[in-house]
Amino acid sequence: MHTRVAVIGSGPAGLTAALYAARANLEPLVIRGLQPGGLIATTSEVENYPGFVDGIGGFELADNIEKQAERFGTKYRDTLITSIDASQRPFVLHTDDGDQITADTIIVSTGASPRKLGVPGEDVLANRGVSYCATCDGFFFRDKRVVVVGGGNSALDEGLFLTRYVKELVIIHRRDSLRADPILQERAFSNPKVRFVWDSTVDEILGEQSVTGVKIRNLKTGEVTLHETEGVFPYIGHVPNTKIFTGLLDLDENGYIKADHNTRTNIPGIFAAGDVVDHVYRQAITAAGEGCKAAMEAVWYLADQDFKASKAEAINA
Ligand code: NAP
Repeated sequence: MHTRVAVIGSGPAGLTAALYAARANLEPLVIRGLQPGGLIATTSEVENYPGFVDGIGGFELADNIEKQAERFGTKYRDTLITSIDASQRPFVLHTDDGDQITADTIIVSTGASPRKLGVPGEDVLANRGVSYCATCDGFFFRDKRVVVVGGGNSALDEGLFLTRYVKELVIIHRRDSLRADPILQERAFSNPKVRFVWDSTVDEILGEQSVTGVKIRNLKTGEVTLHETEGVFPYIGHVPNTKIFTGLLDLDENGYIKADHNTRTNIPGIFAAGDVVDHVYRQAITAAGEGCKAAMEAVWYLADQDFKASKAEAINA
């Protein structure tokens, strides 16, 4: 199958890129990947996306943009890209189901994934008490005790969402002050279900069939204590999803794609937008803005290529 614009990833950056490319009559193909809608679709409530006075659910926001892009001709495919051959034009994208897609331009918007704690028990108890998505799994922790790790916006936002269900929420943070926005701090400090454990990290997640507790280390005193809990939600930042681009696109020392102000990567015709590039702002609205830019760049790039091709044809005729 051939497409003029392949968009890899379906968060706000990819979907907005698709919307703009579709409105330019390019019938983009969005490869939805492992997390349709991107991380925003796992976010409970989005209160700072302009235009929604009362906020909007993260899933609903992503779903709306997807439908909006579809209305103008965007196509979707649920597969994973395993490698890209950029040595030829069109580019060749290999999928995990053994298929190939050729594309004249590519917009990379593969986003970022939650960073893991990297402690014993985390992997083995994943989906058995360890979760990275409060919106998806909060309901399963009704009247239970839950731990959130981290002190940023995600930890507080998603922790506060969990308080709808849980009977006790303990937020474990490695320092004694939070990185989260003041408005979230105020809400957390005034919530009777929330307690903070400062200057501490989780050393181990305990449990056989499911989570029963965590080992908490106080970083100032070195003291290790056992804390009983049925759930652990790590919210300690993200890592960019750039594994398949290693050796193809220029990456920075943390693995984020290096793109210029116009979303251009080191390979002409490949653009990058959203959390896969941005480790500073990482907002749905900035990702959407970058997606818009990437699509406009792709449109201009294709127009330029088409012009050159028709000129060459005219000379040869
Ligand atoms: P973040 O802002 O990078 O915060 C990560 C938190 O985890 C920090 O408190 C950090 O501690 C802690 N941490 C990092 N590595 C750790 C480790 N190995 N062990 C224990 N703790 C560790 O990440 P985020 O909260 O996911 O937010 C990402 C971006 O999304 C931010 O730009 C944020 O503003 C945005 N966001 C916004 C909203 C909103 O506007 N409502 C909601 C969610 C996310 P230190 O503080 O000590 O570094």
